[in-house]
Amino acid sequence: MDSSIPPVSSRAVQGDISVPVITFDAGQTLVELDLDFLRRRLAERGTDVSVEALAASAPAAWARYDELVAAKGHPWHELMQALLTGAGIAAPAPLVAWLWSEQPRANLWRRPIPEMVTLARELAARGYAVGVLSNSEGRIAELLAEVGIADPFRAVVDSGRLGIEKPDPRIFAHARAALGGGEAIHIGDSWPADVAGARGAGWRAIWYGRTARGDVDDPGVAVAPDAAGVRAGLARFGISFG
Ligand SMILES: [Mg+2]
Repeated sequence: MDSSIPPVSSRAVQGDISVPVITFDAGQTLVELDLDFLRRRLAERGTDVSVEALAASAPAAWARYDELVAAKGHPWHELMQALLTGAGIAAPAPLVAWLWSEQPRANLWRRPIPEMVTLARELAARGYAVGVLSNSEGRIAELLAEVGIADPFRAVVDSGRLGIEKPDPRIFAHARAALGGGEAIHIGDSWPADVAGARGAGWRAIWYGRTARGDVDDPGVAVAPDAAGVRAGLARFGISFG
């Protein structure tokens, strides 16, 4: 026997493998596009638009995003272009380019989704190893602190810091190690990054949000259009709340 292999009990110091790991994606899962913040940023560039006009434009802009997402991955520019055009801003391309260049330090996705934050807090209070696993620009931990929702998360794993993005199984492995737990569940809105990524890493997944619908022929995936659906999915995976 190779004496360099540590006894199983020594692993316990790194974490309790009986504690399930539960990670949340950030954008469109914990935080969403903040239209008032966007309005203020545009005003700084001399473009006045109301939150109401942006809100009215948003459904069509998201429909455009959904149309392109399969082919383009994360069509951020197209979403923003459609959003601003639909809100009545003519020739918004330079503004879109500026917003993109600002995104690392002034992330527009900063409006907390309250029912998901509440859920994360309940899970943390129940003792689960709760974390964030995000494809982002390297400042997601600071952003969560800035908007006052960092408290439930034991670890924040940001692709911009790690140099590995979802769906790469290595980022999931990193998150699981950082959270020091056992079986793992990831919650997120992107099928390829969050759901397929988690499944490829041997995790279970909850597909959350606007586009999460239909039957998925995989017992390791729960489909959750809203936070109540996420709770139902977690319960199905054996996570208890109370
Ligand atoms: Mg997302």
